[in-house]
Amino acid sequence: MSDVFQFLNIARKDGDKKPAAVRSKEFKEIYAQMGTDQAHAQAGRCLACGNPYCEWKCPVHNYIPNWLQLVDEGRIAEAAELSHRTNSLPEICGRVCPQDRLCEGACTLNQVEAGAVTIGAVERYISETAFAQGWRPDLSRVTPSGKKVAIIGAGPAGLACADVLARHGVQAVVFDKYPEIGGLLTFGIPEFKLEKTVMARRREIFVDMGIEFQLNTEVGRDISMADLLAQYDAVFMGMGTYTYMQADIPGENLPGVMAALPFLISNVNHCLGLPQDTFVDMQGQRVVVLGGGDTAMDCNRTSIRQGAASVTCAYRRDEANMPGSKREVANAKEEGVQFLWNRQPVAIVGAGKVEGIKLVTTELGAPDARGRRTPVVIEGSEEIIPCDRVLVAFGFRPNPAAWFADFGITTDPAGRVIAKGQSQPFQTANPKVFAGGDMVRGSDLVVTAVSEGRQAAEGILGYLELN
Ligand code: FAD
Ligand code: SF4
Repeated sequence: MSDVFQFLNIARKDGDKKPAAVRSKEFKEIYAQMGTDQAHAQAGRCLACGNPYCEWKCPVHNYIPNWLQLVDEGRIAEAAELSHRTNSLPEICGRVCPQDRLCEGACTLNQVEAGAVTIGAVERYISETAFAQGWRPDLSRVTPSGKKVAIIGAGPAGLACADVLARHGVQAVVFDKYPEIGGLLTFGIPEFKLEKTVMARRREIFVDMGIEFQLNTEVGRDISMADLLAQYDAVFMGMGTYTYMQADIPGENLPGVMAALPFLISNVNHCLGLPQDTFVDMQGQRVVVLGGGDTAMDCNRTSIRQGAASVTCAYRRDEANMPGSKREVANAKEEGVQFLWNRQPVAIVGAGKVEGIKLVTTELGAPDARGRRTPVVIEGSEEIIPCDRVLVAFGFRPNPAAWFADFGITTDPAGRVIAKGQSQPFQTANPKVFAGGDMVRGSDLVVTAVSEGRQAAEGILGYLELN
């Protein structure tokens, strides 16, 4: 069975338990992409302002007004060409970027009632339409340089780096410990936000561009960094951040409490039919999710799809101060998630397994060093919410490998790799090693990882004297 068909099985496999409202919403989100008329209408609204703030707010600085104009003129292949000049994964960013905080948040039309041009949806439309018409990146005029670069991690940072290198005639070989490419795009972000078929198609495109993937291969275990440095002209690391932040409260070790990412990965593995020891099934369970970011929203919405009896999301600040995308919170509410704002967990209670969670109410106090108002606990406000499962979605910290030091790769006190560039962008303290994405900036976004992977590739080209 081809990868694409294997991925398509997901919809059939987990479809049974979903409430009808979720299924119809999912259908709209996944399959009903923007039609040609809507795309033209949106593209035609662009004012082509003298100062394209949208371009500046977009981390990869997409040529947004230019591709909107090409869409308006029906020149889709040229729009796709232009969009790929700045973004290695435009069809994915168009789906998962928090546009309200980025490009669309900066659109001048936000000041009028109709609101911003729906830039993300048009970006997705351009790629989807061009792919459907048979358009593919054209590397026929690229001359091989004879250089080869090893890339550790097939997440957005590693893929973006490989994309830019391939377009400059460098053989990119991508190593990943997982059996599929995508990093958190595949083993984190759920199917209802990003269809697995999209990653499968992107893998085919990258392979056709000459990028090589060595999957199920962990660097430091199955192949050593010393071997990579000996066999390749440079190495790029885009290994992400995978230390889960703990709640640090009594009862956190009770059966029924788990970190967000293992839960989401277990769901992906189950849907893909990949081998795993334990599938965490929320059917019939009363689930409490702790946290207010996108990962928490993914846990909420995945639990609903698995048929949870109830899903409650507790967050220690108010709704206006949630870090997650507003669109994701609205989706979760619409699907039946109950939100408890201004609630902080103090203990998980139960005899031998989770039976409830003890929360206190908070109010927002003085701003902290970063300007965010600190939650202050209201005395005597304790309450216990009965539940069967608790998912902790408090974010991630870096997990620097023990072998970094052996190769002169340094980290800051938080464990992030230092890649400030001695002579090239995103170069680490070892001049032959470059790094980018979450492992350098801390947990962030797909588009920022893409941006850093691309900039690091430019650095590698400079180091190899190819630009
Ligand atoms: P990753 O995507 O983490 O990829 C790192 C890769 O490196 C992995 O495939 C890993 O297997 C591999 N690797 C690590 N160590 C080794 C090794 N030793 N050998 C071989 N391979 C190795 N961002 C958004 O913009 N929008 C969203 O909606 C969104 N939702 C999210 C939902 C969840 C649940 C999570 C967890 C994150 C979400 N993000 C979202 C954040 C986004 O996914 C990350 O910022 C982005 O994937 C980081 O890219 P990266 O390439 O740096 O790392
Ligand atoms: Fe907007 Fe993200 Fe596309 Fe940039 S990459 S234009 S921020 S959707």
